Amino acid sequence: MKQKDQLDLTKSLLEQAKNSAFSYLENTNDLPVFPGTDALALLDDLSKPFHTESIDPSVTLSELSQIGDKTIVNHSGSRYFGFVNGGVLPIGIAARWIADTWDQNAALEVMSPLAAKLEEVCESWLVDLFNLPGKTKMGLVGGTSVATLCGIAAARHYLLSKLGWDINADGLMNAPRLRIIMGDQTHGTVPKMVKLLGFGSNSIEIVPSDKQGRMLVNKIPTLDDHCIVILQAGNVCTGSYDDFSSICELANNAQAWIHIDGAFGLWALASEKFTNLTKGIQLADSWSADGHKTLNTPYDCGAIFCKHPTSLVEALHQQGSYISAGDNRDSMSFTPDMSRRARGIDLWACLHHLGKKGIQQLVDRLHFGAIFMKEGLSSIGFHIENDVHFNQVIVRAESDAKTKHILHELQKNGVVWCGSAMWKGHFVIRISICSWQTNDNDLTIALKEFERAFNS
Ligand SMILES: *Cc1c(COP(=O)(O)O)cnc(C)c1O
Repeated sequence: MKQKDQLDLTKSLLEQAKNSAFSYLENTNDLPVFPGTDALALLDDLSKPFHTESIDPSVTLSELSQIGDKTIVNHSGSRYFGFVNGGVLPIGIAARWIADTWDQNAALEVMSPLAAKLEEVCESWLVDLFNLPGKTKMGLVGGTSVATLCGIAAARHYLLSKLGWDINADGLMNAPRLRIIMGDQTHGTVPKMVKLLGFGSNSIEIVPSDKQGRMLVNKIPTLDDHCIVILQAGNVCTGSYDDFSSICELANNAQAWIHIDGAFGLWALASEKFTNLTKGIQLADSWSADGHKTLNTPYDCGAIFCKHPTSLVEALHQQGSYISAGDNRDSMSFTPDMSRRARGIDLWACLHHLGKKGIQQLVDRLHFGAIFMKEGLSSIGFHIENDVHFNQVIVRAESDAKTKHILHELQKNGVVWCGSAMWKGHFVIRISICSWQTNDNDLTIALKEFERAFNS
């Protein structure tokens, strides 16, 4: 047992944290969705020179909660529609509280057999839910950005080794040149990761897209075994899905590698409602997805799935004399980093609680919310710029100036929060329905806000 005074200190800090969290939760609906200017000015109080003397941890904690209570962005409320941020399930928060208290390091099985086991279970449950090929392996990373990095690194290893080149020994210099094929509406994190892997933007061949942001299949260049093709399940603006069946057939025939960015959209595989969108997804080689978006786990939960485990591990592995590879799962073999929190704990808890049916109901509900908004906004007079495939809606007024004015009015009031984008030449407001908490009442309030802003 810990020393009594240490134990008492830990317990009293956790108690204080609990009270502070409860008071936040009790007030979430009254808080502005985004902090106002006065509240944000409080952040300046944090800019102090680093002090010398230690401070009582309960004082530190109360300073943190006092400032945080007024300045946080209320993602976990029910009227935040910005980006594709999602909320957080209560079971996710609770499991993460325990996980943080346990302080597990998920790098090696020997560091935490529990963390290793839970990742393995999440892997098999998700491979089953998504109906991915049986040999698919999963790595848990910070988010889809890093998951995509892992997928492309595995692709690079796989294609080059088939071309007789050892990337790990000889690097990219003088290697056979690979071609990266992606749509003009690919998420910005993809070219970022492509460049980080040393390819450079001149290796990227951009394919034009249709009005929904889907790659035009007849504009895809002739593919070969030097190609990494990156597709999208869920465009961040329109929520559209590439034509996986057609493109994967082309790519598979050419022996190219296909990676699918399914940050929020891969979860549509949980519901039969979306079979038309997801058809052919399983024909790819690797997939990335986020727990912290559609599934509503706490942040810092992205996953890479890869059906060529050897290529994934070869691309990401590390050796060291003190690293004893266990017989079971050493999670660091599937991720770029070594020490990391045990993301599998809160992910497992969310999956365990929801079950397949709970996830299906969640994604269906997000879709219904988006349809509800589309219909309501259309009757107010907004132009709806996308077919509502999944959970994203983009709208505009008759001019960019008016749309900007409306967005400003919405953001100022703090009842809802939405972001914006340029979509096919127009400034649009983006609405993402991705919190488990958003209900009909929230959507009705949101529509009233849009109406007020539209007529202001
Ligand atoms: C959010 C998102 C990403 C980036 O994911 P992170 O978890 O923020 O790293 C990539 N692609 C798409 C389609 C996204 O929606």
